[in-house]
Amino acid sequence: MDMKERLQELAEAAGKRISESEGLEKLNEVRVAYLGKKGELTAILKSMKDVAPEERPKVGQLVNETRSKIEALLDESKQKLEEAAREEKMKQEVIDVTLPAKKAKIGHRHPNTIALEEVERIFIGMGYEVVEGPEVEYADYNFTKLNIPENHPARDEQDTFFINDSILLRSQTSPVQARTMEKGKLPIRMIAPGRVFRSDEVDATHSPSFHQIEGLVIDKNITFADLKGTLQEFAQELFGPETKTKFRPHHFPFTEPSAEVDVSCFKCGGKGCRFCKGSGWIEILGCGMVHPNVLSMCGIDPEEYTGFAFGVGLERIALLKYEIDDMRLLYENDIRFLKQF
Ligand SMILES: [Zn+2]
Repeated sequence: MDMKERLQELAEAAGKRISESEGLEKLNEVRVAYLGKKGELTAILKSMKDVAPEERPKVGQLVNETRSKIEALLDESKQKLEEAAREEKMKQEVIDVTLPAKKAKIGHRHPNTIALEEVERIFIGMGYEVVEGPEVEYADYNFTKLNIPENHPARDEQDTFFINDSILLRSQTSPVQARTMEKGKLPIRMIAPGRVFRSDEVDATHSPSFHQIEGLVIDKNITFADLKGTLQEFAQELFGPETKTKFRPHHFPFTEPSAEVDVSCFKCGGKGCRFCKGSGWIEILGCGMVHPNVLSMCGIDPEEYTGFAFGVGLERIALLKYEIDDMRLLYENDIRFLKQF
């Protein structure tokens, strides 16, 4: 058999095997079998030395042509196989547009935020403005100007985080009262919500950081009747129109007289239930008429102006309103918990 025929047969055999290859791996085996270092075509090339010298260029050309032919067939088949693989993959990854869309997970307002917005809405409706003050505060504003002198037990280091002798993390939002009064713009109708700090152990009802909402009204002829009416209105707006209030005498250094306020239980209407521990009442806040000493220390004449103040725990409202029985849940930021409100 002459070289030309041998090469023709080889090309035909290779073409047959290529067209029968069902995968890229098989195709590569064919490539190695013919074109590889130990491949058939390479073997023919090596046998060139047996060809007569004058025939060599012609045979060389034939070998090259055969090589190109096989390579072209290999490339063509490779492309077809790759395309088929791509199509198969597309079929498997087909998107079902009728499936429900994946919802983007967004956060949820915190119960504290919901409760605060509710309280703000009520007081803004009564003509109050919302004022904020610093969380790192002078002891002077946190205590002295609020009629809490040196040696008062409320200054005890066990309750307050002191930064140095005169600076602390505010233990109440009341310093915002003193700061607002000092500005001397009267009358005042304000609430001051914000974070406060006390060195309490964490349990179901305590946390070293919580929130208060302070309220202050200063004007001419403000009486205890104004205080009672305002807080009655607040309680009814927050807990429902049937809500009753009860004022119990109490003591705070910065108000005189002072009271603690209970609201009738909104679960049982005052009959007594587990929620109100059988009493029919739930304690919600402390209040009183601003002490004349506080007015004087903040530059307001107590002979001309009077006022009232109140302070309510924001967590207390959130816990009551949403019937949460452990304050720690409010600080965990677990979306499964937050989503319930
Ligand atoms: Zn009750």
